[in-house]
Amino acid sequence: KNCYRMVILGSTKVGKSAIVSRFLTGKFDEQYTPTIEDFHRKLYSIRGDVYQLDILDTSGNHPFPAMRRLSILTGDVFVLVFSLDNRESFNEVQRLKRQIYETKSCLKNKTKENMAVPLVICGNKGDREFQREVAREELKQLVAGNEQCAYFEISAKRNTNVDLMFRQLFDMAKLP
Ligand code: GDP
Ligand code: MG
Repeated sequence: KNCYRMVILGSTKVGKSAIVSRFLTGKFDEQYTPTIEDFHRKLYSIRGDVYQLDILDTSGNHPFPAMRRLSILTGDVFVLVFSLDNRESFNEVQRLKRQIYETKSCLKNKTKENMAVPLVICGNKGDREFQREVAREELKQLVAGNEQCAYFEISAKRNTNVDLMFRQLFDMAKLP
């Protein structure tokens, strides 16, 4: 398979688009621009083989649950984003994680043990440490015992851990 689909999920304004922008262009924008649904395509050539990475950047509001379900079904790897200074956005990530496992395991006709979906959870805006609303202890528990799930504390603004997070996601998914 040479074609992969990455889906970015999380509440609005947590920095999903900022992370995608760091990944694709290396840039950061202070100004907020609401996302409806953005689609990016990146082609890589590695040792003569061409790989395609599609990135779906979502809005965070989901007036159409069926659409979100569809993006989960078609996604290969997932980035779930919350903001470390926003408790509710963390709760949303917990719900999304559950929904991904449920949706994917339905597809494979297995039970909840099937958690082999490469997934990274990002606590973004790590540069705003003084406003922290999610304790470190809780975050450890979130990924405990699942090799296909990792947590990173990042800052799209300062460009902290963003590359590391993507590298880990690709490694988990065995992408080149
Ligand atoms: P999205 O709705 O999840 O796509 O969020 P955006 O990427 O549009 O970002 C929302 C707002 O948060 C924008 O004003 C960004 O500049 C800001 N932002 C994004 N990432 C960071 C970060 O790491 N630190 C800080 N302080 N602000 C950020
Ligand atoms: Mg956005």
